[in-house]
Amino acid sequence: MAAVLVGGKVCTPEGILEPGVVLIEGENISAVAHERQLQPPPGVEIVDAAGSWVLPGFIDVHIHGLLGHDCMGLGLADVIRGLPAFGVTAFMATTVTRPAVEIDALIPQMAAVLADPPSGARCLGIHVEGPHLSPKRPGMANPEWFLPLSCAELDRFQELAAGSVSMLTFAPEEGAAMETMPYLVENDVVPVIGHSDADFELVERAVALGLSQATHTFNAMSPLHHRAPGVAGAVMALPQIVAQLIGDGHHVHAGAMKVLLNAKGVEGTCLISDAAPFAGLPAGEYRWGEYRVLVDGETSRLADGTLAGAHALLDSGFRNLINLVGLNPAEASQCASTVPAKSVGFGDRKGQLLPGYDADIAVLDADFWPQLTIVEGDVVWRAHA
Ligand SMILES: [Zn+2]
Repeated sequence: MAAVLVGGKVCTPEGILEPGVVLIEGENISAVAHERQLQPPPGVEIVDAAGSWVLPGFIDVHIHGLLGHDCMGLGLADVIRGLPAFGVTAFMATTVTRPAVEIDALIPQMAAVLADPPSGARCLGIHVEGPHLSPKRPGMANPEWFLPLSCAELDRFQELAAGSVSMLTFAPEEGAAMETMPYLVENDVVPVIGHSDADFELVERAVALGLSQATHTFNAMSPLHHRAPGVAGAVMALPQIVAQLIGDGHHVHAGAMKVLLNAKGVEGTCLISDAAPFAGLPAGEYRWGEYRVLVDGETSRLADGTLAGAHALLDSGFRNLINLVGLNPAEASQCASTVPAKSVGFGDRKGQLLPGYDADIAVLDADFWPQLTIVEGDVVWRAHA
């Protein structure tokens, strides 16, 4: 579309433009400027954003579903349709550990959706989270279904997914995972440490082989002890690792979020939701594949109390970074958009409001609740529409 957003607080890498103007032509941003420097050209649709925040759309590289829809399977189409209501314009469809026979059936369904996706958030690829995990740090996953990672195993997943696996969370200390890491990098699959009991030294060696990201930092990993810094210590100490952070306020205490942000800076912290397929639904009991999950309206848990994904979407985490952690909106925007885009190889197209970039835009009200979402130039969602 040819349109212009006017009057909002526009968040750019150089700072906030207020009132700002964002000009969209086709799928791209063609100009971003202060209102006094850019007059809307005649004939374009004008979207009044006065009083609103105009941010790069949120990018969630770790999400399992929402509102009863599971990324694993044909439900991925409804996830694509549903995410813009939460300011999310792009995401990685994330799997969980399930029995092999179910993975074999569900991943081809994901590939079928991605071959002809509906209008909504852009799915950037599949993030495989399990079954290549450590039985010592399973989180909610059932270790009976864990499998060792190998080159052949990656090939098998890529065949099921028609080549769309682009991120893989694994425990590097298990099986042949270390030997497989160069193969992941060669195949443009982002290697992500997670559900891991590795020690600091092994993570250092993994970084030398191309490890570049950590799944939900602090959750399901060996913790920081001052004589045994574990995966959590390595994530904070090693600048090559981008740290995913669940921002729901339940998985990680706000104080620990501050520790992480002090260690990594906003440029090393990637906000994720880890939202479960029933995120956003009312309290009740739900089934996630073979897992029985209890939702209380704020969290989702197995019967033994283990957190089973998150109940909040990325916009909620964005507000928490501002309200609980004390980041300013420009800093929080880096964690929710810029860092995730760069971490999956889309840093030259997505995650910032810049001329030439994809017109992926979240318009939020003064309290940072989504009002309007634009994906690649199309308005895909409006509040009260
Ligand atoms: Zn997850």
